[in-house]
Amino acid sequence: MTTLRELASEAAGCTRCDLYRNATGTVFGEGPGEAELMLVGEQPGDVEDRQGRPFVGPAGRLLDRALADSGISRRQAYLTNAVKHFKFQQSGKRRLHKPPNRTEIMACRTWLESELDVVRPAVVVALGATAGAALVGPAFRVAAYRGMPADLEVGPWHGVLVATIHPSAVLRASGPDSRDRAYEGLVADLRSAVRACRIRSGAS
Ligand code: SF4
Repeated sequence: MTTLRELASEAAGCTRCDLYRNATGTVFGEGPGEAELMLVGEQPGDVEDRQGRPFVGPAGRLLDRALADSGISRRQAYLTNAVKHFKFQQSGKRRLHKPPNRTEIMACRTWLESELDVVRPAVVVALGATAGAALVGPAFRVAAYRGMPADLEVGPWHGVLVATIHPSAVLRASGPDSRDRAYEGLVADLRSAVRACRIRSGAS
């Protein structure tokens, strides 16, 4: 049986798409190998690319808080991204995030499938449209799935999908009121995922 360590080591040398050329390195998933809950984001950002770890920038800190407010700690969940290299556009000294395209998402899906197969979470949370598209397909829309557990099969894994917004959408919301509303929506969706986990594991 392949381990997460072996997968991460293999992914470190991945050249399946062009994104490896400009990024610092592969940012593989992180968390317990037997996690009941897996969260999938879009791609590493500038901070994640430099540190080589997922969700350690501003959006990651907000996600940590949202997870705690949802009744689960980050340490209990497996966190990863649909695309494992940072895609950006250089603007002076700044590296501006660019969304991955369909070809890049599909090229990287092999790693996501392998993570799902090894961790075998009860519930996977799609954080935003790119994660949803990687898991469900191009027709995925956050509004159609958010907060509502749905059956999902990805390769040999089957379980439950819950979708929500990416935590960076909370940070981008204009004004404190919309930020608060976006944050509350994120927490409500994460609570739904935690509930689905407990139901699947027979805890309630
Ligand atoms: S983004 Fe994914 S598929 Fe593309 S090179 Fe990086 S690890 Fe490989």
